[in-house]
Amino acid sequence: MGNETDQLHVLFFPFMALGHMIPTIDMAKLFSARGVRATIITTPLNAPVVSKTMERGHYLGAQIGLRVIQFPSVQAGLPQGLENLDQDASPEIRLKFFLAMSLFQQPLEQLLQEYRPHGLVADAFFPWALDVASKFGIPRLAFQGTGFFAMCALQSLTAHKPYKGVGSDTEPFLLPDLPDEIKLTRLQISNDLTLGLENDFTRFFKEARESEERSYGTIVNTFYELEPAYAEHWRKVLGRKAWHIGPVSLCNRDAQDKTQRGKAASIDEDECLKWLNSKYPDSVIYVCFGSVSKFPAAQLLEIAMGLEASGQQFIWVVRKNKDEGDEEEWLPQGYEKRMEGKGLIIRGWAPQTLILDHEAVGGFVTHCGWNSTLEGVSAGVPMVTWPVFADQFYNEKLLTDVLKIGIGVGAQRWVPFVGDFVKQDAIEKAVKAVMAGEKAEELRSRAKSLGGMARRAIEKGGSSYTDMDALIEELKLYHAQI
Ligand code: UDP
Repeated sequence: MGNETDQLHVLFFPFMALGHMIPTIDMAKLFSARGVRATIITTPLNAPVVSKTMERGHYLGAQIGLRVIQFPSVQAGLPQGLENLDQDASPEIRLKFFLAMSLFQQPLEQLLQEYRPHGLVADAFFPWALDVASKFGIPRLAFQGTGFFAMCALQSLTAHKPYKGVGSDTEPFLLPDLPDEIKLTRLQISNDLTLGLENDFTRFFKEARESEERSYGTIVNTFYELEPAYAEHWRKVLGRKAWHIGPVSLCNRDAQDKTQRGKAASIDEDECLKWLNSKYPDSVIYVCFGSVSKFPAAQLLEIAMGLEASGQQFIWVVRKNKDEGDEEEWLPQGYEKRMEGKGLIIRGWAPQTLILDHEAVGGFVTHCGWNSTLEGVSAGVPMVTWPVFADQFYNEKLLTDVLKIGIGVGAQRWVPFVGDFVKQDAIEKAVKAVMAGEKAEELRSRAKSLGGMARRAIEKGGSSYTDMDALIEELKLYHAQI
């Protein structure tokens, strides 16, 4: 390899969506904390998300580099300035965005030639990265961005197609060969899968799965104690190589690190903490649906009314369309005035882990994106589960049926980015149940115990710490032998 020293050098190339970039950056920080040189590759408009971390990283003595490559907007037929999936776009543009990823093959090849790193952590959405890495004898580690449970559930679905054996879209079917009895309905999974469709999207995801399977292994942002049966199932029953190194978000220990994750927060850190500091422990529910889903005004209105009716204090993060100027459409009249001191609305981007980790927060209404799920687990809070699409219905099952730290709001339908329509009564009921219902204490105590396990997992001697050691040693050995 081209490195003059014995120091390992790993390149990280995340898919350009915040739910992929944020954990990849955290992962690079964890590697660099173990003395591995880490270089993150991204495009110009995504560079600030990484560079903020680097400024802090250098200050902390970490070694994280950034390499910026152009986004092939013209070649891909995409509008200039669209470099991240969190930006507003039509379904056609989103498809083009996914397909544009293959245009990074050539620039990645040049970078591997130049750096000759010891490992390439490339997003599962870059299936072609395996061939590029193999050309240089570099192990490609796939990063999926989800947990073992969801990986096993998807594998069960694609291998056994149990959705074919039911008479309707709402009849539950069992996912075969999983450690627990897990049931889903056809409504809760993608149409592409249930209808057996073949299109650019399905081909893209199929390729991604196949490439991951042929890769050197998969890095999973999870910890063993969270889903031991599924970690074993993935490795021993399905025979796949994987390392669990999470929850990676826990590498952000102080308030500034937490505030700087992702985009610039739409609320001042001190203002946010002051608000939370004025509340009793476990008295606030945090409501946020991740970085890409965006609900229509009618749904936001139901949330506003459901939260008010629940009588609970809340912080609610609302992602807004650029052109959605009129607040009255989604907020009942005089709402914010009525809620003053009781409910805080953050329009745009929230410092999520800063909020979740505050002792005043005692619950989380989540879309069950994997990062949010793990961040909720790490903070030791019970959750109201409101899956929208992607892996989120599987993650909901993990929280409600396996870990029993979540209560479903009743979202039944997989609808990309927008979600099923949920009425205010259901929201009120689920929020009350998690914060103050009969089972709230039970849920909270299980959640707190898992939070403790999460923190121990990444400390020296913990399960994730040890697995990361194993991966680093294996990469060293791999290169010593060639
Ligand atoms: N996030 C945040 N502030 C927000 C919204 C999201 O910090 O206002 C972070 C959140 O902490 C998580 C990531 O963005 O790390 C979202 O990833 P997730 O997998 O939960 O959902 P996705 O955005 O991929 O649907």
